[in-house]
Amino acid sequence: MTGPASEIHRLLRPDLQGRTAYGAPQLDVPVRLNTNESSYPVPQVVVQAVLDALAGELPDLNRYPDRDFTRLRKALTAYLGRQSGVTVTAEQVWAGNGSNEVLSHLVQAFGGPGRTALGFTPSYSMHPILSETLGMTWVDGARERGTFAVTPESAAEQARAHEPAVVFLCSPNNPTGTALPFEVVGAVLAAAPDAVVVVDEAYAEFARPGTRTALELLPGNPRLVVTRTMSKAFAFAGGRLGYLVAASELVDALRLVRLPYHLSTPTQTIARVALEHSDALLASVEAIKEQRDRIVEELDRIGARPVPSDANFVLFGGLADERATWLALLEEGVLVRDVGIPHHLRVTAGTPQETTRFLDAMAALAATHLRSPTAYAGKQES
Ligand SMILES: *Cc1c(COP(=O)(O)O)cnc(C)c1O
Repeated sequence: MTGPASEIHRLLRPDLQGRTAYGAPQLDVPVRLNTNESSYPVPQVVVQAVLDALAGELPDLNRYPDRDFTRLRKALTAYLGRQSGVTVTAEQVWAGNGSNEVLSHLVQAFGGPGRTALGFTPSYSMHPILSETLGMTWVDGARERGTFAVTPESAAEQARAHEPAVVFLCSPNNPTGTALPFEVVGAVLAAAPDAVVVVDEAYAEFARPGTRTALELLPGNPRLVVTRTMSKAFAFAGGRLGYLVAASELVDALRLVRLPYHLSTPTQTIARVALEHSDALLASVEAIKEQRDRIVEELDRIGARPVPSDANFVLFGGLADERATWLALLEEGVLVRDVGIPHHLRVTAGTPQETTRFLDAMAALAATHLRSPTAYAGKQES
């Protein structure tokens, strides 16, 4: 091969050659249920409050932003107290342009070349991507076949075996939807004494009643990190604001790897004002949970195999050929996600109307797209 493409390929870091970039399709179709965004627009009252706040600050864009995003940190602290009942200080909170950025800061500070990162697959695809592109060895930890569950015993055993520097737990887990048993976090902390243990709680606000947050475990666990985001429940994916909570010493270390002034003045302001209006922004969460539960019930009724969900999406199996079903849904104007698990697809809970479009399309496809019951005879679904 000659030409510019091969010229660049030759220059690329050897460990990046042959990799493909993260890329959920961004297609312009009527019903977009593929990236777990909220289908609800930002309420007008929040739009106006953001505009008012920005008007006061835009003349000062000649100056760099507050490097330590002090006011935003306080707003995040107050929100976490309201949402979870757990009290944290502003020094325990760190933020970035999406939780992907704070995850990247964690890997840069506590991972890196020569170290191992462990996660339990299938889980969020950015955990291995961030770890490997920053030079770590990634270990695909196992879940139970069929149910995608992780037990404290199995998680601890795998953590002990691989001596990781970073462990990623994801609860509620993407793409399976189910929250981890609370005991997994403590078991992994004990079994991996040299690891920073990250619990990605991007979907915490959607969890079913009784689901506990790892925030409760922060006192006395200086190696524990809980990450959250405004991209899902807050209906704020375009605002790009993710954050984490940990011991203040750990948070302080992240300043070594962040780029100076990584949170722009508009980002800090937009996120802070949005947090001050958290009730308005979170108003759609209950409606989304209702549609999520409706999807689980209806898919179960037609013979597709939904996985119990604590998130704003549902993973479902029972498909003869997930690629064919993905395409057939797209032809009906419904975009869902092929997450690379054989016989499964993932769908985001949308508005009642969007959910109806998806469920009607699935009901029509059921006769031709579901696996016959004999496909399961004598074996677990993989
Ligand atoms: C969507 C998602 C995120 C969010 O990423 P942002 O960068 O905050 O938009 C993080 N973790 C998981 C598991 C997710 O599904």
